[in-house]
Amino acid sequence: MSHLGLLPFHPGKACWVPTFSASTLTRLSQPPQPPFGPDTRQIQFADDMQEFTKFPTKTGRRSLSRSISQSSTDSYSSAASYTDSSDDEVSPREKQQTNSKGSSNFCVKNIKQAEFGRREIEIAEQDMSALISLRKRAQGEKPLAGAKIVGCTHITAQTAVLIETLCALGAQCRWSACNIYSTQNEVAAALAEAGVAVFAWKGESEDDFWWCIDRCVNMDGWQANMILDDGGDLTHWVYKKYPNVFKKIRGIVEESVTGVHRLYQLSKAGKLCVPAMNVNDSVTKQKFDNLYCCRESILDGLKRTTDVMFGGKQVVVCGYGEVGKGCCAALKALGAIVYITEIDPICALQACMDGFRVVKLNEVIRQVDVVITCTGNKNVVTREHLDRMKNSCIVCNMGHSNTEIDVTSLRTPELTWERVRSQVDHVIWPDGKRVVLLAEGRLLNLSCSTVPTFVLSITATTQALALIELYNAPEGRYKQDVYLLPKKMDEYVASLHLPSFDAHLTELTDDQAKYLGLNKNGPFKPNYYRY
Ligand code: NAD
Repeated sequence: MSHLGLLPFHPGKACWVPTFSASTLTRLSQPPQPPFGPDTRQIQFADDMQEFTKFPTKTGRRSLSRSISQSSTDSYSSAASYTDSSDDEVSPREKQQTNSKGSSNFCVKNIKQAEFGRREIEIAEQDMSALISLRKRAQGEKPLAGAKIVGCTHITAQTAVLIETLCALGAQCRWSACNIYSTQNEVAAALAEAGVAVFAWKGESEDDFWWCIDRCVNMDGWQANMILDDGGDLTHWVYKKYPNVFKKIRGIVEESVTGVHRLYQLSKAGKLCVPAMNVNDSVTKQKFDNLYCCRESILDGLKRTTDVMFGGKQVVVCGYGEVGKGCCAALKALGAIVYITEIDPICALQACMDGFRVVKLNEVIRQVDVVITCTGNKNVVTREHLDRMKNSCIVCNMGHSNTEIDVTSLRTPELTWERVRSQVDHVIWPDGKRVVLLAEGRLLNLSCSTVPTFVLSITATTQALALIELYNAPEGRYKQDVYLLPKKMDEYVASLHLPSFDAHLTELTDDQAKYLGLNKNGPFKPNYYRY
């Protein structure tokens, strides 16, 4: 089995694992060349990160001044919504549903939507050819045979392609949603019809959210041995409720900035008891999903919910990391006047050089038409800011958690909430001023629009490879630590996606390789290269 040379990494401590041997992945990956080679990438994390136990609250959404019907939650935001409104008011938890094989090992909005969901999955497959090719190559070998994966991700057509790939490679999967709004009900139904134990629907309550996670983890006669998480909620739940499950877990694969922060917190506190793979900081995730996914979906989410025109509008974007950069590029292209807030002088300087004004939020809050948070932080937009916004200001969040905008502070008696569309609330001040709050401060693109399939294929391929590696690694290869994928793995994932563009890579000559001191098959950049 392979040794991919993944790096145990603690903030501020560089590690080096230089050796590789032939691997499952190698066999799967011919051609293009598989990932081999040392990786020395380092990343730094701030010392004052939130503690693992301090989770963003998902409470409060039931305290809206008027109740939100399921139909309003379902009918508008997802591009692929075929939801039948006839059963909207009945919680999926109350329904008895079985799929065509008689199984009721799932909980979705409406199993009858499976056929529509299947079409969505098939459409997504067309733009996820690299993942499908990995599926085909590995199908015979079944590198995940015996794997029992409990997953918590957005449940969309694209993640369905990932889940079905994992099943095709031999895994059994139980899945819940990492966000109460982002589930495509049809897709969840299609997965349930195909035999995946999926517990998710669009518009879950806080209680439903944790119930669904619990149903995935807590099952008689079935115990997970792998975790695939997006945001850390599932990992947190297992730690809190079922710590014994970790005795069997071979590894955690985590994709989000937020979840990765939490893993490092655990590691730092000496509480991480299994190996974990940090997929977020793979170049092919961070520099693609975070940047291009948001560049292509921010406008979609804003336009579907508000019909706003951007030319000449003043927009403030909080955070100029990868997500912020993607959002700003799209807004600028439509002629918006974009302001940036940043805490980091490097990102602030990048924003300046890209032609944006860097300001404090207080300086522009009275004049802007749109406020977008992309920091992964909390309380970036406070009640004080919200009080000072002008009438009709649109407020939304692109970060993973609903902590960036202090939505809780808006649930006070003097403010009236009016749901005007699915995922769109007008919060009305006593003087009549309205602030337009989207998705109750949850991430906009996954709550209110769809996201580009191709870029998610890149992330999903990386996740699948990380799971294969962690699952197949002999005991002792990976310690109770957080690992980064090696550069060669990133290059491999990228090369799998190049044929979609009919892109032709230039090959180094022997002479050139010698001159640059590189192996002709890569890695082509040192680990400190930032792209
Ligand atoms: P990042 O770390 O690259 O960028 C965040 C930026 O915010 C940093 O530059 C940081 O300095 C800045 N920041 C932090 N606190 C701030 C504050 N109080 N005011 C102003 N700026 C502040 O992270 P990223 O990759 O851009 O991801 C940001 C968030 O978006 C994360 O929560 C991540 O999980 C999420 N995400 C969302 C999507 C999506 O599709 N919506 C995709 C990927 C990631």
